[in-house]
Amino acid sequence: MNIKPNDERVKELSKILLKHQYLYYVKAEPEISDREYDALFDELTKLETDYPELQYPDSPTKRVGSDLDNTLPEVEHTIPVLSLDKCYSTEDLTQWIEKVVRLAEEKVSIVVEQKIDGASIVLYYSNGILERAVTRGNGSVGNDITENVKTIPSVPLHLNQNIDIVVRGEIFIGKKSFQKYNAESGGIYSNPRNLAAGILRSVKSSKAAAVPLDVFIYEGYIEGSDFSHVEILDYLDKMGFRINQQIGYFSSENKDAEAAKNLRPSWFFGNMNDIESFIEQKQKQRSSLDYEIDGLVLKVNEIPIREKLGYTAHHPRWAVAYKFEAPQAVTKLLGITPQIGRNGRITPVAELEPVELAGSKISRATLHNQDYINMLNLCIGDTVTISKRGDVIPAVEEVLEENHDGNKVWVLPDECSECGTPLKRDGAHSFCTNFFCPERVVGRLAHFAGKAGLDINGLGEKTVRFLFNKGFIKTPADFYNFNYELLLDEEGFGEKKINLIREGLNKSKNKPFPAVLTALGFEGLGKRTVEVLVENGFNKMRDILSAAKNKDIEAFALIDGIGDVLAELFVKEFSNSHNLDIINRLTDLGLKMEYEKKDNAKDKQIFVGQRWCVTGSFENFKPRDKAKIELKKRGAAVLISISSKTTHLLAGDGAGSKLSKAENLGVTIVDEKEFLKMIK
Ligand SMILES: [Zn+2]
Repeated sequence: MNIKPNDERVKELSKILLKHQYLYYVKAEPEISDREYDALFDELTKLETDYPELQYPDSPTKRVGSDLDNTLPEVEHTIPVLSLDKCYSTEDLTQWIEKVVRLAEEKVSIVVEQKIDGASIVLYYSNGILERAVTRGNGSVGNDITENVKTIPSVPLHLNQNIDIVVRGEIFIGKKSFQKYNAESGGIYSNPRNLAAGILRSVKSSKAAAVPLDVFIYEGYIEGSDFSHVEILDYLDKMGFRINQQIGYFSSENKDAEAAKNLRPSWFFGNMNDIESFIEQKQKQRSSLDYEIDGLVLKVNEIPIREKLGYTAHHPRWAVAYKFEAPQAVTKLLGITPQIGRNGRITPVAELEPVELAGSKISRATLHNQDYINMLNLCIGDTVTISKRGDVIPAVEEVLEENHDGNKVWVLPDECSECGTPLKRDGAHSFCTNFFCPERVVGRLAHFAGKAGLDINGLGEKTVRFLFNKGFIKTPADFYNFNYELLLDEEGFGEKKINLIREGLNKSKNKPFPAVLTALGFEGLGKRTVEVLVENGFNKMRDILSAAKNKDIEAFALIDGIGDVLAELFVKEFSNSHNLDIINRLTDLGLKMEYEKKDNAKDKQIFVGQRWCVTGSFENFKPRDKAKIELKKRGAAVLISISSKTTHLLAGDGAGSKLSKAENLGVTIVDEKEFLKMIK
């Protein structure tokens, strides 16, 4: 949550964005990922939209991605050179397509192209001869880099016809060429895009000539033509431009696709429903391409519809960039360490030569399990690509170059590296089954005190590990009973830190029951599952314990969102004597063992102790889950099927077998009208 006054935040964002714009566009040395940049940019745009009085004339949003460099001559563009709006999810993309189809009000087709990760360029031809090559700049003014661009072999200096034309494209360096060039230069360049962007700005064109630059042209402006976009691409190809052939064409009418097929048999043709699978396929091909792409571009094919849709202040409405997740980096695999989770699962972790990825230094990445290592044929010493999936956990993606040290595919040892217990394979993963394996105990303790647990100040993983290794802490209750004064002589434990820990422990006694339940870290008992349990009547520890003691698997299994497997685990975990001992000691220490609802919610708890089933369809609850939410809000448990445990059935239209089963079992049946009355 942003607690800063808006004005202060706007100024702060402007300062940060201007710095990163300079680093990205002028220095070609970005420090943060595109996605992080976009998030900051979007936040500022939103503030400026919501509070127009905070729009300053020098705001970074006013000069969208300017790459102007004052050491190079400036030239005015004769066409608007706008950047594209971006989206990151297929949901957003579907929405965009639906909007385009709706606004077009006539048949429309969409062209999907690869988004090349390079440097944007505008080429001006006069009478068939390359006159000027200009960077995008701020969209209306760019830098003249004609002499450098002329050194690129795939940029035609003369066209096949003596025409006047303006084209847009992307200058890039192929992955293999980059590796070779970078190796020869002592490995000083972080990625192909930065090298391409930097070299295009060099003052001496001989420098540019030494770098294997390439170009793809993706847009052409031909005065007076009535071509559609695909026809323009076809035309540009015939004029001698290098066009990327990885193109998809999707029409709302099949016969259109047939006609376009005659144009370019190598392109992909389909209808609107095929777009999603095309995108999926293209995303998979990404790593096998010899050039970097960071997404796909979707454009309206019909030029009159483009004109109709028009532009926002920054972007055309007729095109959108779908940006792929996960920026990647290349590094060397130095070793593999099996990491033991608190539930015994072994995750092989790659130890890497430190490398910069999306703004942070990475030296470790996950390898998931042995199957994954086998799939990659991964050996120590290999050169690998790593990515940040969902921008959080780095993972090894593929082997780029095999090792020359004679190493073979890495294999997980048969025994736990910490306690020597033989590992047990279950599905894709291997497990250390020793409940008291030191790594598992530390994992449980760190989870209890950590962010996912009770989030106790001063008890981070490092401290917990230290306390465990010294033999001071063995179970969560020990945290509360230990005399921390004994640590005053230890390095890193001053009075201040000890007070911090004490304060944190005291605060943890006020954390609500669901947080305590999650902190226990029992198998299957994640934050979401705890919510489901508590929402469905299990809001007291003693109720959970008594169900487990009676081996009442059904009591858990019938809850919507739990199921048999988890239910069996709960019975096991909550009847295990070691766990019961932990729960008893924590209860004695005063941690919350039942969920106290806020006072104002109390009078609404009309369904407490009742176990409901919901079936059929409803007029006022679409989808049906809305009725379930109303039930849970009022204290009911919602079960997935009818049994002797069910007290009520909420039956809508078309209630089938559940209704007759409920009648047979004498379950109270409630229809929609009655239900509405009950919850009013
Ligand atoms: Zn072990």
